[in-house]
Amino acid sequence: MNHLKDKIEEYRKTFDEDAARVKDEKSLQEVRNLYLSRKRGYLTLLFEKLKTLKPEERPEVGKSLNGLKNYIQGRLQNLREEMAGPEETLKKVDLTLPGRKRYWGSPHPIHLFQQEIENIFLGMGFSIEEGPEIETDYYNFEALNFPPHHPARDDWDTLYISDDLLLRTHTSPVQIRVMEKRKPPIRIINPGKVFRKESPDPTHLPMFYQVEGLVVDHGISFAHLKGTLEYFLKTLFSEKIKIRFRPSFFPFTEPSAEVDIECTVCTGKSKECRVCGGGGWVEILGAGMVDPQVFKNVNIDPEKYSGYAFGLGVDRTAMFAYQIPDMRYFYENDLRFIRQFALK
Ligand SMILES: [Zn+2]
Repeated sequence: MNHLKDKIEEYRKTFDEDAARVKDEKSLQEVRNLYLSRKRGYLTLLFEKLKTLKPEERPEVGKSLNGLKNYIQGRLQNLREEMAGPEETLKKVDLTLPGRKRYWGSPHPIHLFQQEIENIFLGMGFSIEEGPEIETDYYNFEALNFPPHHPARDDWDTLYISDDLLLRTHTSPVQIRVMEKRKPPIRIINPGKVFRKESPDPTHLPMFYQVEGLVVDHGISFAHLKGTLEYFLKTLFSEKIKIRFRPSFFPFTEPSAEVDIECTVCTGKSKECRVCGGGGWVEILGAGMVDPQVFKNVNIDPEKYSGYAFGLGVDRTAMFAYQIPDMRYFYENDLRFIRQFALK
């Protein structure tokens, strides 16, 4: 038995030496025959000698003999592949298999929808103005006619950074910044992110997008405001959409209005509609004529000039336009949702 075990070890060493000398198909075949030939191969002879051992000795020796056989076969196979070169390797690749698909990135649905809104206003001669997302109390509130301790400040839960710095709760501060720098005529929209201390739910988010607009010139009236917003909403939704203006209050406009459109999900026909609560209307815009006090704060003479302002939530409006029941879907990064809006 020990004699056989020694032989197995010996052949493992001599095979390694023989394999190292293989340089072509012919020498490969010679080494193969030397060890594995069915008639006189070294291993074939060792397998025959296995039969002469006592039955209880056979399993152990047989195991190491099989191990050596597998080792030699594997090594010869590797040598063959190494010699084959790239052409042979290519034959093994199935060129008829479909390729792996790569997904292209695309703009976020909210970004696309904001562009749609911007394009409508650009077409009406508005220009786009942007401003900082961190604002001072003055620009976010005071210049917009919210004096300190004014109850209207409580309408929005503000995220403060320090006593004077805050994350803007609306994009209206941009209007103040533009009016400080520029004299009328002014015709701008201000798109951007705004922040409020809200718990996310189907219709509220702590961060969302707004587009606000401001027009200041001689003789601007509520009729201009109404005509502009009607054109905007009909272009964005449809020519047939029903629109209504309701009286409202904002510190920075007088008179003020809220603008509703008919519910795009049930068109007012369902009492159980989750989007409009069965009322048939959804609020989409806040608007009004710029308060004379706001003009005074930026040194524009309210006796000479008048103007209107309006604002809408981009995410909220997108929800109605795409008939999505929950605003949070936009920010959950579920690719099955996001990809529906990808550019084709
Ligand atoms: Zn409805």
